[in-house]
Amino acid sequence: MSSIYTGPVFEMARNQFRSVADYLEIPEGRRDRLLYPKRAITISCPIHMDNGEVAVFQGYRVQHHLTLGPTKGGTRFAPSVDIGEVSALAIWMSWKCALAGLPYGGAKGGVTVDAYSLSKRELESLSRRYMQEMIPFVGPHIDVMAPDMGTNEQVMAWFMDTYSMYQGKTVNEIVTGKPVSSGGTEGRREATGLGVAHLIGRSMERLKMTPSASTAIIQGFGNVGSYAAIELARQGVKIIGVSDHTACYLDRNGLDVDALIAHTAEHGSLKGFSTEAAFDPDQMLVQPCDILVPAAIERVIDADVAGKLNCRILAEAANGPTTPEADAVLDQRRDEIFVIPDILCNSGGVIVSYFEWVQDLQQLFWKRHEVLDRLRGLLDDAFQRVIDRVEKDKISHRVAAMAIGVDKVAQAKQTRGLFP
Ligand code: GLU
Repeated sequence: MSSIYTGPVFEMARNQFRSVADYLEIPEGRRDRLLYPKRAITISCPIHMDNGEVAVFQGYRVQHHLTLGPTKGGTRFAPSVDIGEVSALAIWMSWKCALAGLPYGGAKGGVTVDAYSLSKRELESLSRRYMQEMIPFVGPHIDVMAPDMGTNEQVMAWFMDTYSMYQGKTVNEIVTGKPVSSGGTEGRREATGLGVAHLIGRSMERLKMTPSASTAIIQGFGNVGSYAAIELARQGVKIIGVSDHTACYLDRNGLDVDALIAHTAEHGSLKGFSTEAAFDPDQMLVQPCDILVPAAIERVIDADVAGKLNCRILAEAANGPTTPEADAVLDQRRDEIFVIPDILCNSGGVIVSYFEWVQDLQQLFWKRHEVLDRLRGLLDDAFQRVIDRVEKDKISHRVAAMAIGVDKVAQAKQTRGLFP
C-alpha cells in the first residue's frame, strides 16, 4: 500500500518486521495492522528567534498502536528528523515496550532542528510551542513523552509546565525524564546507560569474559554513552575509544572516563579533550575491542562495517544502529559476535520512564535503590526471554527479541478483536 511512511529508516523497520512476521508465520492479512502507525501528527512551530525573525520548525509525533495502553516514547530535536524516521522509532518503541512487559504502545516525536544551534531561550520557546501544539493529541493515559537525542530533563520540565498551565494544575505524569525536583524519578537520568552496562555484564558472564581484562569502544557520548562508559569503567572494563559528533579519541592504554565526563560537563562536547588520542571517526567502529557500543544514531553499521567488526559483544545502545543488510552479515558471524539488540539493550530508559509514570500517578516516590533493583529485575527477565528463544529456535538475537515484542502485540490485537 502507498503511504506517507517512507525513507531509509522506515524501510529498515519494515524489513525487520517482515523477517519477524515470516518467522512468526503471521498471515499477510494481519501484517499491515501491526506495522502501520495508528496516528501521525505533523505540526508547524513558529517561534521568535533572538535576531527578531520568526522561524517555523516542522514537528511530528507518531503513535504506533493503542492496543496495550497509552503510547510512550521520546521526543528528538535533530536535523535528520522526518516522518519516516519518527515512525520507525515509534515502531521500535512498541516492540521494546512489549519485550520489557510494559503496558504501552510505542510512540516517538521530533522537530527537524539542530538543537545545538539554538540559544537557551529559543530552545525553551520551541519546546513550549511543540508541546502546546500537541496538547489535543497527548495525555497521561493517551501518549507520554520522554527525552531522546537533542532533548533533556530541562526540555521535559518545559513540556510538563506548558501542559500543566493549560490544564490549570500540575500534571507530572504527562512526560517522563523530568528533573527529580519536578516529579522526576531517581535513576532516570542514568537508566539507559546503566541498563546497557548491566546487559553487557550479563553477556560477559555468559561468554565467560572477565570485565577487568576487557576493552570497550563507545560511539556517542550523550546521556546514554556517557553513563554506559561510567558504569563499564566501574565494572573494571577499560574504555579505549569514545566519540561524539565533534571528536573521536582512541587510546589502547585506556581513556580517563572521569576526565572525559568533566570535559563534556564544562565544554558541552568532547571537542578539545586531547590531541594525542585523536582518531579517525570512520575507522572507530572496526577497531579491535571486546565490547563495541554504538550509542549515537541509526544505520552506522552497514554490511561493509559488519564484515569488518572486530568485537566480541555488539551492544546496541542507539536505536537502529544496524541495517538489515548488516544483520545478514552478523548472522553469518553469530559465533564470533554476540549481539545485544537495540530494543533490549537500551530498554533501561523506557523501563525507568515507566517507573516514573507509575510514581507520578500514585504520588508515591521510591528510593534510588528500589528503582535500580526493579530495573535490573526487568532487564534480567527480558534478557533471559531472548536467550531462551534463541536457544529454542536457533534464531538471531534480534529476531528473538523482536519476535517476543511483535507476538505480544499481535496476540493482544487478536484477543481484543476488531471494532466495530
Ligand atoms: N527515547 C528513549 C528510547 O528511545 C526513551 C523513551 C522513554 O523513556 O519513553 O527508548
